[in-house]
Amino acid sequence: MEPAEAATETAAATGAELFNPSTYDGAGLDPESRRIMLATIEFFESRGRAELKRADHEREWYSDFLDFVKRERVFSTLLTPAAEADGDADKRWDTARICAFNEITGFYGLAYWYTWQVSILGLGPIWQSGNEAARRRAAELLDDGAIFAFGLSEREHGADIYSTDMVLTPDGDGGFTANGGKYYIGNGNEAGMVSVFGRRADVEGPDGYVFFAADSKHEAYELVQNVVNAQMYVSEFRLNDYPVSEADVLHTGPAAFEAALNTVNVGKFNLGFASIGICEHAFFEAITHAHNRVLYGRRVTDFPHVRQGFVDAYSRLAAMKLFGERAIDYFRCAGPDDRRYLLYNPITKMKVTTEGERVIDELWDIVAAKGFEKDGYFEMAARDIRGLPKLEGTVHVNMGLVLKFMPGFFFNHAAYDEIPVRRDAADDEFLFNQGSTRGLSKIQFHDWKPVYERFARIPNVARFMEQADGVRVLLETAPPTDEAQRQDLDFLLTLGELFTLVVYGQLICEQAELTGLEDDIVDQVFDTFVRDFSGFATALHGKASATEAQQAWALDHVRKPVVDAERFERVLAQVTALDGAYEMRP
Ligand SMILES: Cc1cc2nc3c(=O)[nH]c(=O)nc-3n(C[C@H](O)[C@H](O)[C@H](O)COP(=O)(O)OP(=O)(O)OC[C@H]3O[C@@H](n4cnc5c(N)ncnc54)[C@H](O)[C@@H]3O)c2cc1C
Repeated sequence: MEPAEAATETAAATGAELFNPSTYDGAGLDPESRRIMLATIEFFESRGRAELKRADHEREWYSDFLDFVKRERVFSTLLTPAAEADGDADKRWDTARICAFNEITGFYGLAYWYTWQVSILGLGPIWQSGNEAARRRAAELLDDGAIFAFGLSEREHGADIYSTDMVLTPDGDGGFTANGGKYYIGNGNEAGMVSVFGRRADVEGPDGYVFFAADSKHEAYELVQNVVNAQMYVSEFRLNDYPVSEADVLHTGPAAFEAALNTVNVGKFNLGFASIGICEHAFFEAITHAHNRVLYGRRVTDFPHVRQGFVDAYSRLAAMKLFGERAIDYFRCAGPDDRRYLLYNPITKMKVTTEGERVIDELWDIVAAKGFEKDGYFEMAARDIRGLPKLEGTVHVNMGLVLKFMPGFFFNHAAYDEIPVRRDAADDEFLFNQGSTRGLSKIQFHDWKPVYERFARIPNVARFMEQADGVRVLLETAPPTDEAQRQDLDFLLTLGELFTLVVYGQLICEQAELTGLEDDIVDQVFDTFVRDFSGFATALHGKASATEAQQAWALDHVRKPVVDAERFERVLAQVTALDGAYEMRP
């Protein structure tokens, strides 16, 4: 199917409506993908909430889930690229259905999502490798129901992956002997292949990097501990004179480092969708509780602050979904000449997940004590939602990345072909052939304004545009001044928040246009953005290094959203209509 055809067929399926297992039918997916999604829902629902919570509280390794994954060929179908599919027409690397699975697993519990996520990361360096035997072995292991692991982090070095202490000493036969430890490595207890990043003892600098595949069951692989107290296994392991044969080597030199970064590029996109799934489940629980709770003779949802809290949480969640769905299209259309996904990716990772935290915060302030109860999903959501902004690159690291695109976004435009909705059954092969990770600041963008202008009839889009265009004005008239301010990440992170909102709003408008989303929701979403922008502008004003011109600009861009009580009531009515719409089977 041509992408354009897919667009018309599935456009309506990718709007802002919440994923609800009771009504989900997998519309827009091919039959095998639909079967997998529905089977996954049925696995969790038939096992029930009591068992979900018992396993969580007892921090039980989820072998039942992994048995299901093996039986239904879930990971092998969804995570084997077409090039390794050996004629199986259902296997392909399809970001759209991967994101659907992220959302479903996040909806039922982040631990289940995590074993899948770190398998994706572990497979990244393998699928990018020229080592055909290793790729074939990974495909066979997937068929056997194996999970995978990504061994990048080390205890001492955190985000500084240049400083690896996993050292490979040549053995004289084309192979190496590996020694060193890895820390925070998911699935390190069971993985069929662990992709490990290290460096050669005999070669200085980037030429010495090596990515290789280790076997977690090998006697020289020492599983030290689970670093976390949870169902998932986040391992510390050591390699003690581990023999790395030539056949185990996946990448060498600078390519090994690029494989690490490109793998994280593929993987970190998933976190936004897991965050969406968590928020959706928590939302159903929260509204069903609050709308039926009567205090002082009236519903909790009649309190003005509760009404505002629900409408804000709903709008933020709608925005997370709209942005994420549109970012999928850019991911799937990416190629050497269109690398805009490299901006939308860290925003999905950082912005969508931090918005997820805000959604849960808002809901938790409303449901209060209920959010602690051992029998509910909310307790898990409140804990797990915090992890997503911090992992696979912190908010700071991702914002540092986002900032590199700011000049290109505002001042270096190019005409691209229209990006259609991409829910077709294509293999996203470019993701394993992304090439150099350099040249980010040279990437050109399509003009961000026209889509905003097409929505300018909506009062809060128009108001937000005044603020958004202000970021361009700020960069032209009062940009970060001297070298000291250009190095002041504390200042730049706040500038990055203002910039991120402009990009976030742009893709949301694009998705709203593609799906024919009703104006009320768009207006309410931008009502929150106008307030958020004002908050970040105020923060910029207070930054130690903000100049007088920057401070004046900041105060000049504080705005109040356009108030419309009737629109607010209509959105609130959509929220309260979700009362009882979903409850997990007991
Ligand atoms: C549950 C869990 C699962 C994980 N799973 C895996 C896994 O499977 N595989 C794996 O390899 N790793 C995994 N990790 C490791 C994770 O990716 C680390 O959190 C990451 O390596 C960053 O290290 P750190 O958290 O120690 O922070 P540090 O690197 O110690 O950072 C400290 C502070 O400095 C800031 N900072 C660091 N560098 C920069 C920069 N360049 N720009 C701006 N600010 C910066 C950070 O934002 C942070 O606030 C996991 C971690 C956890 C907790």
